[in-house]
Order: sequence, then structure tokens, then C-alpha cells
Amino acid sequence: MLSFFQETYHTFKTIFTGMGVTWRHLFRPAVTVQYPEERDVLPERVRMKLDVNIDDCIGCRLCERACPVDCIEIGTIKSTDDDDLGETSTGHKKKLWVNQFDIDLAKCCYCELCVHPCPTDCIFMVPDYEYSVYDRDNLLFSFSDMTPEQIEEAQAKLEKEEEEKRRKKEEARLAKKKKAEEKKEGGSEDDGGSKASAGAGKSDASTNADADAAKEARRAEREARRAARKAEREAKKKSDS
Ligand code: SF4
Ligand code: SF4
Repeated sequence: MLSFFQETYHTFKTIFTGMGVTWRHLFRPAVTVQYPEERDVLPERVRMKLDVNIDDCIGCRLCERACPVDCIEIGTIKSTDDDDLGETSTGHKKKLWVNQFDIDLAKCCYCELCVHPCPTDCIFMVPDYEYSVYDRDNLLFSFSDMTPEQIEEAQAKLEKEEEEKRRKKEEARLAKKKKAEEKKEGGSEDDGGSKASAGAGKSDASTNADADAAKEARRAEREARRAARKAEREAKKKSDS
């Protein structure tokens, strides 16, 4: 019997508590927003979606490296010497074509780590939250504005320039090698010349010595003939007397 009264009391108490809340809010202004007709003002630093100003991107890939979940993919092509890609709005010289700049927002955890290292402030969060899709693949956003033809042309131009540079470098290397060989050969010729002249000097000296010896031999022969004639004359004188 006691429990019957207790339960009845609790039943009416909860009903009146609940109805009291309802009646209280009935006379207060509503806090709900009639989305999409009405929208709340979002905080200034809200993180909702990444956006990229591709005209200011220099392709440095700092954002790609900073991303902890690898959801940014960037592809670049070096510009050739005759290309002028201009400057970013922050005054950085652009030297690379950015042929790919993809962000997979299905993977993104909105940490904003990619935003801070950017030297040109061209990757940033925007207050856009209305990009729901049925297929997760559709959350891959591409920001590069290069067409396949432009990419192909830039690649072909770069390959041609690199080939030309390789050829010139090889030519310069060969010319340098040839010059070094010529220099070496010139040096050995000089050495040979000095050796030859030394040899010539030697042979001159030996020729002079031979001439002197021949002269001496002729003189000795003359002396011998003279002595023989003298001996002959004396012998004749003795036989006459
Ligand atoms: S917000 Fe974070 S997770 Fe998303 S792309 Fe940037 S670094 Fe990667
Ligand atoms: S850090 Fe900035 S400039 Fe460098 S690749 Fe990323 S978006 Fe481009």
C-alpha cells in the first residue's frame, strides 16, 4: 500500500517536472537555427575545408611533408630557362610548374599542420562545410589548373633542355680532356728534344775525339817515314865512305 502511494507520487512529480521545463521554454526566445535558411556566424579560425590559391603556389611541397596522414599529393615540373612563371603575390619567384595538387579530404583530420609552413600563405582553411558527398572518392579535391596538354608540353620542353645541357656538358668534358692530352704530348716532345740535343752533343764530342786521333795517327806515320828515310840515308852514306 505504501509503495502504491510512493509510485503515484513519483509519476506525478516527473510529469510536472517535465511539463515545467516545457512551459518555461514556451515563453523564451528559440535558440535553434533554421538551417539552411538561417546560418550561425562561425568562429574566425574555424577548420572546415582546405583551399589552395594555386597561382601563389611555388611547389615547395612543405605542406605535403607536414601532413601527418599523407593526404596531400603534389607534382611539379621544372621550368626551362626561357619560361617565366612570374612571382607570387608575396614576391616569391616561381620556378616550378605545379601539375598536380590533390588533397584527399576523406583522410584529412583538419589539424592545419599543412597551413603554417607554407611560405606564400596559399593553403588555408575556409569556412565551407557544405561538401557532403555519397561517395568518399568524391572528397578528392584537385587544385592544379594545368591541362594534360600543358603538362605534356612542359615535360617535353624540360626533357629537350636537359638533353641539350647534357650534350654541352659532355662536349665540354671531351674538349677539356683533349686539351689536357695535347698539353701532355707537348711536354713529352720537349723532353724528347732536350734528350736528342744532349745525344747530339755527345756524338759531336765523339766525332771531335775521332778526328784528333786520326790526326795523331797521321802525324806518327809521317814521323815514322821520316825516321826510316833518315836511317836509309845514313846507311847509304856509310856504304859510300
Ligand atoms: S589539415 Fe592536417 S591532415 Fe589535413 S591536409 Fe592539412 S596537414 Fe594533412
Ligand atoms: S607549402 Fe604552400 S607553396 Fe609550398 S607546395 Fe604547399 S601550398 Fe604550395
